[in-house]
Amino acid sequence: MNQDQLKIPHATAKRLPLYYRFLKNLSSSGKQRVSSAELSEAVKVDSATIRRDFSYFGALGKKGYGYNVNYLLSFFAKTLNQDETTTVALIGVGNLGTAFLHYNFTKNNNTKIEVAFDVDRAKIGSEIAGVPIYHTEDIEQELKNRGIDVAILTVPVGAAQSIADQLERAGVTGILNFTPARLTVSPEIRVHHIDLAVELQSLVYFMKNYS
Ligand code: ATP
Repeated sequence: MNQDQLKIPHATAKRLPLYYRFLKNLSSSGKQRVSSAELSEAVKVDSATIRRDFSYFGALGKKGYGYNVNYLLSFFAKTLNQDETTTVALIGVGNLGTAFLHYNFTKNNNTKIEVAFDVDRAKIGSEIAGVPIYHTEDIEQELKNRGIDVAILTVPVGAAQSIADQLERAGVTGILNFTPARLTVSPEIRVHHIDLAVELQSLVYFMKNYS
């Protein structure tokens, strides 16, 4: 993202891929314009928030007309760097990691897992869904050669920090952390944490207490 986009609030930035996915579907179904109310219904974000989010990108909508789908789509594509494919590394080819290797991320956005790492000799040297698996001792060399600076972490919790240290040395600047570990990394590295067990537990809690 460029300097101008640094001013976008985090919450807005996090909703961009959601908007982008929906707009892409609209565009492929031939729809030319969309109102913030329609968008709101589809992405389950209230329309005031959508209008505010969009206002950060300039006056993109017109009163009584709504938003031009293709214009928005190309705008978001540019903002989200969809013109280029971002290649990603995955560390830890267990159950979750294997599922990610099979998952077609490019369906909705231009990211692609290009290489994976593990310590299990039975997995090293093989390929899953066309993605080669290397030993973790090759992380630094492979990531530098391939120019990869984003990694998905699906290793056991006990291995997470030392792998994060290795990723840092390899020049990675973004980590999607699926382990329960709270990682300590330098401030230049962005870590997004997704703990599926915690998310599930919190869903059940909210269902019981707030529904
Ligand atoms: P599996 O059934 O394959 O063991 P799992 O998801 O239940 O999968 P985990 O123990 O969470 O297993 O391990 C996930 C993956 O991380 C495994 O493939 C394991 O070999 C790998 N792994 C374990 N330690 C490390 C490490 N230090 N660095 C990289 N990968 C590791």
